[in-house]
Amino acid sequence: MADFVALLGTKGGPAIRPGSTNPTSSLLSLSGQRVVVDCGLGVTRGLVDQGMQLRDINQIVITHLHSDHYLELGPLLHTAWTAGLKTPVEVWGPEGLADYWRHFLASMRFDIDIRLADEGRPDLEGLIRFHVVTPGEDFRIGPLTVVALAVEHPPVPAFAYRFEGGGKAVVFSGDTAHFPPLAEFAADADLLIHEAMLGEALPALMARIGNGDDRLMKHWLRAHTLASDAARIATAAGVKALALHHLIPSDDPAYGEAEWLAGIRDQWQGPFHLGRDGLRIDV
Ligand SMILES: [Zn+2]
Ligand SMILES: [Zn+2]
Repeated sequence: MADFVALLGTKGGPAIRPGSTNPTSSLLSLSGQRVVVDCGLGVTRGLVDQGMQLRDINQIVITHLHSDHYLELGPLLHTAWTAGLKTPVEVWGPEGLADYWRHFLASMRFDIDIRLADEGRPDLEGLIRFHVVTPGEDFRIGPLTVVALAVEHPPVPAFAYRFEGGGKAVVFSGDTAHFPPLAEFAADADLLIHEAMLGEALPALMARIGNGDDRLMKHWLRAHTLASDAARIATAAGVKALALHHLIPSDDPAYGEAEWLAGIRDQWQGPFHLGRDGLRIDV
């Protein structure tokens, strides 16, 4: 199996509009292990479009509990179950995911009980295992070593993840403000996937959303990273390639590839991938 990262959903934030891309989710394939990283809206379709059988999912990692990163976790697991899942799935992330899952199961109890009795499906609840991640402590996902870093994404506890296997390393920033310790965390990685926004595009985005106040603008500025700063992290880390996702904005025709390239050009000169839904990046 090839080593790659497929960006399934690449927009920042939970809302979608006509013509929109999907909120955040990715598929990492490294050393023969596949890992779903974040489960924003669209993750199930995105995985299928990558040719993945949902019944083969066995590892999911969540960066933090903003809905654009886990809204579709329950629907993904439920759909995988109806698609033939019968082996355990490990779900890693911050505190709170098991609680989400319990309530998801309760909300779907009618359907699940019918499928258990009427279709002879295996016990869904028993297949899914949750693990609370401790930043700085390595954990194993099959052949991979994974470590989390607590990043700066107030007011939500949020993690970056570094995946290593077969002599390669891939780092996801998760959602974070410009966070210089990420450079050391991502040192020499083969690929850094960093969230990014374009500051000059934010006022127009505020106007399009229409129902936030200046707290939304303040949230963006203190909890997310400008493209130029993401590029700075990549250069300081000495990574081999940089990809940007969780793009803010994602649906403004005034801000296309040229504007994103202009945003990073002064700080990053290496291989670069601007995220779009379905983009597969070889590692
Ligand atoms: Zn987000
Ligand atoms: Zn977030």
